[in-house]
Amino acid sequence: MSDDLKPIQNGDTICIFGGGPGGSGCAIALKKEAEKLGKNIRVVIFEQKKFEEHRQYNQCIGVLSPPLEDILRENLGLELPADMIQKEIAGYCLHSDNRSLDLNGEEGGKSYAVKRSKFDAFMMLKAEEAGAEVVHNKVTAVEIADEDVLVYSEGENCRAAAVVGAFGLDDGSTRIFEQATPYRQPDFLNTVITKIYPGEDFLQEMGPTIHAFLLSRNGLEFGAITPKDDHLSINVAGGNVSSQVMLDFLRSAPVQRFLPEHKRREKPLNYFRGKFPIGPAKNLFGHRYVTIGDAAGLIRPYKGKGINSACLTGIYAAKTIMNYGVSKKAFEFFIKDCKELTQDLPYGRVLRWMTKLSLSFEFMDHLLKIAKDDSVFMNCLFNSVSGHKPYKQIFLETATAPIGFKMAAEGINRFILHKRLTVENET
Ligand SMILES: Cc1cc2nc3c(=O)[nH]c(=O)nc-3n(C[C@H](O)[C@H](O)[C@H](O)COP(=O)(O)OP(=O)(O)OC[C@H]3O[C@@H](n4cnc5c(N)ncnc54)[C@H](O)[C@@H]3O)c2cc1C
Repeated sequence: MSDDLKPIQNGDTICIFGGGPGGSGCAIALKKEAEKLGKNIRVVIFEQKKFEEHRQYNQCIGVLSPPLEDILRENLGLELPADMIQKEIAGYCLHSDNRSLDLNGEEGGKSYAVKRSKFDAFMMLKAEEAGAEVVHNKVTAVEIADEDVLVYSEGENCRAAAVVGAFGLDDGSTRIFEQATPYRQPDFLNTVITKIYPGEDFLQEMGPTIHAFLLSRNGLEFGAITPKDDHLSINVAGGNVSSQVMLDFLRSAPVQRFLPEHKRREKPLNYFRGKFPIGPAKNLFGHRYVTIGDAAGLIRPYKGKGINSACLTGIYAAKTIMNYGVSKKAFEFFIKDCKELTQDLPYGRVLRWMTKLSLSFEFMDHLLKIAKDDSVFMNCLFNSVSGHKPYKQIFLETATAPIGFKMAAEGINRFILHKRLTVENET
């Protein structure tokens, strides 16, 4: 098996398995890079959904956050069409069991609520305009040989120099890739989304604020309410969330305040299940294959911005393919480009662990109280929830400030108190 750095040649084909933001972004970047290098390559995207029909969706709340506009403009030459934007998000409010805190901070750009299928349809159209071929068929198998790759679908097949795995966390597709390569899917959290239509007056009064909830409830890691054009999108996430966990969340006192009175006891009719990756996939690239976006697990841990990471990793993969080739050695350049994401993974994991600990020791109310009066900790919470700064930077800024020491000490006290109460209860 050749491990050379041999850039892709005139007339070669690259096959993209999945046409979400990662796959479409990668296709556009491949065509752009090829043009820059004066090469003519064929790019084929296999996508089972027809986004423009708005009948099938990729699971999402539909918030586009900074720096997505810059990523699209600078790398792909795209501008978001004005008619795609439903709302500009004005801010975030964080809620614990008994407290609420408006998070103040500088996001460094605008966040927009959009209809996700409209965004995916836009990206797909731009990929086609850039010269990519779109095959609306389900991929059924992949074969990777020394010399090339064969991608099978329910319709036509595609022989290519390499395959880009952009299939998200789709179970069947993951298995197809796992059978064909040493790739192993990333760990993930399950999510459930529902929609509530509270009426125009209620939405107006609520304003364009995202409400994030960190509540001490079994099975729930976090929840959020996001106002869209005519409804509220509500999501919960956890290792084992279900429609029942969603119902408990909706019935909890902190959430009831954000539901219109006539909807408070109503059972939502529709639930949608999805997954968030919480770590990188194993062997996420190799000879003649690379994975991007959710399939690679290369997204900001805990707080998503998954669309941003999918586009970025798609762009990095395209640059590597065009400049270094499709060998395992070539894709070492891809993973180097992803270092802003990979370096942040351990910090994201620690933050998630600390949040879970704070929830089990019912410490979250106290943390919100501290943040109200301490600007350093307020910034820490704002940046964690908005996802504006890398976790590494948030940690460094918070841990080196006096508040970091104070909180560590209070956390330890709380832990000791909790242990003592548990022992007393048991005896
Ligand atoms: C509940 C929830 C809410 C979220 N909210 C946000 C948000 O507000 N903002 C944000 O930035 N991110 C959000 N995310 C994350 C975001 O949706 C993902 O990170 C992003 O979609 C990843 O893009 P992708 O291209 O890697 O994969 P996907 O968007 O999952 O695209 C994969 C594509 O592959 C196609 N595919 C899969 N298998 C096959 C097959 N066998 N044949 C053909 N096609 C196939 C699928 O149809 C799909 O179109 C959310 C995620 C969840 C679960």
